[in-house]
Amino acid sequence: MAEELKKPDDLLDINLSPPAQGWMETTPTFRKGTYCYSAPLKHQQYLELPNQREWQPHDADWKLPANWKEIILDGMEKLLKKHRSFRLFLDICVRCGACADKCHFFIGSGDPKNMPVLRAELLRSVYRRYFTLGGKLFGKLAGGRELTVDVLKEWFYYFFQCTECRRCSVYCPFGIDTCEITMMARELLNLVGCNIQWVIEPASNCFRTGNHLGVPPHAFKKTLEFAVDEIEDLTGIRVDLPINKKGAEILFIAPSADYFASPHWFTLLGYLMLFHEIGLDYTWSAYASEGGNFGLFHSMELAKRLNDKIYAEAKRLGVKWILGGECGHMWRTIHQYMDTFNGPADFLEEPVSPITGTRFENTKSTKMVHIAEFTADLIKHNKLKLAPHRNDKWKVTFHDSCNPARAMGLFEEPRFIINNVCNSFYEMPENTIKERTFCCGSGAGLGADENIEMRLRGGFPRANAVKYVKETYGVNMVACMCAIDKASLPPLFEYWVPGVEVAGVHELVGNALVMKGETERKTNLRGEPLGE
Ligand code: SF4
Ligand code: SF4
Repeated sequence: MAEELKKPDDLLDINLSPPAQGWMETTPTFRKGTYCYSAPLKHQQYLELPNQREWQPHDADWKLPANWKEIILDGMEKLLKKHRSFRLFLDICVRCGACADKCHFFIGSGDPKNMPVLRAELLRSVYRRYFTLGGKLFGKLAGGRELTVDVLKEWFYYFFQCTECRRCSVYCPFGIDTCEITMMARELLNLVGCNIQWVIEPASNCFRTGNHLGVPPHAFKKTLEFAVDEIEDLTGIRVDLPINKKGAEILFIAPSADYFASPHWFTLLGYLMLFHEIGLDYTWSAYASEGGNFGLFHSMELAKRLNDKIYAEAKRLGVKWILGGECGHMWRTIHQYMDTFNGPADFLEEPVSPITGTRFENTKSTKMVHIAEFTADLIKHNKLKLAPHRNDKWKVTFHDSCNPARAMGLFEEPRFIINNVCNSFYEMPENTIKERTFCCGSGAGLGADENIEMRLRGGFPRANAVKYVKETYGVNMVACMCAIDKASLPPLFEYWVPGVEVAGVHELVGNALVMKGETERKTNLRGEPLGE
């Protein structure tokens, strides 16, 4: 990755002087490292997307349909009718600028069009021109502008430089959610076949095999069996592995990266050990083998179709409720959109922990409990024997993943768990955590390797906060609860703050968990000697 990449100091050499021309006159340059590639034709075909073709964003000709403008304006009209919030967000911005310096992409790039207020204006200006009286009559004078191919390209460039993290919305006095504007812009771009590989390929795989990685059911089973073997080597205990077990009490869903990638794998070991230890009556599904939902980064319709498989499997297997693992956008989808997509899930029961009797009232409608709530409740009721010293190798901080944190308010549960399974925990600065957390810079489908410069720029504020706790307290481990974070934070830290590792919260739980009948642990879940 580093060959063509600037050194950190050079990347931060940002020119903050405004461009000589007005913002309506500037067009984006599709410079390598700052944008994502388009979806391959076979995946466009698999999902039956509009305007299927081979193309790339750096091509001069995007091979748009002849009536592309009509399609976009018609699509915008439909979205304005369907989502009141969309029209409201376009109408009420007073351009106070409170959000301007809150986006990690603006901080890391200095590009004015990465200010949330201006990012939204890219679309708002077209809305004004075609859907407001002032814009229709006075055009530019009323802040309206014509929809041209250059404008469409600009939308693509900047709305695929927004991780839909919603940090800007926390600071807007009117609650304008620029993420929702990005989502609408991406819906519109998709109408004319302008989308990116890193979103479409996983979504297409999910349709074919039930997960983003394209792992078929037999390989899913095999990889989980490897995990069982590994746990046996570590602890001497052979844990249960229920898959597609009809009539189990609980269906467990994790992001597919947990059973294929590192450091996610250690989180998987943690889940399996925990469930075995408490004797949970649960099952995995080899068909709904994905918690994540890349449809959310494409269109509401695709998100709905992908989310539905989780509930269809819960119904098929006859479980009472669903437990979900460490995933970011699974929780955003469930928490904010599931009830209007596919729910309420009336065929399931209101979740109650079979171990502690706790009723998870916040999940009344979705019937889906977050693993952090579940485990924190077990610890609170003294149901786990824990040896936190096994994590003493690490001084830990916690990265609030945007979706479980800002979208769900899951702030205290992971901290409570970490404080019980580790002896050294340190917070990053207050304006970078909890609801004000900084994004990893790669969410919403932007984790592509070709987009590495933008990922590193966008991830800079997060890495900078980690650098602070590293230098102040000696932090060497960042715990988090999202598969995209676990994939994107390691290269980010390697670049900005080397010497800091990344773990899932349930990896730390697995390390500390004292299992009944276990042999003396010599190593942590990574196979590294304990205490070094
Ligand atoms: S949602 Fe996040 S990435 Fe998008 S404009 Fe707001 S702060 Fe920036
Ligand atoms: S903070 Fe809200 S009202 Fe102010 S410029 Fe940003 S989006 Fe507009």
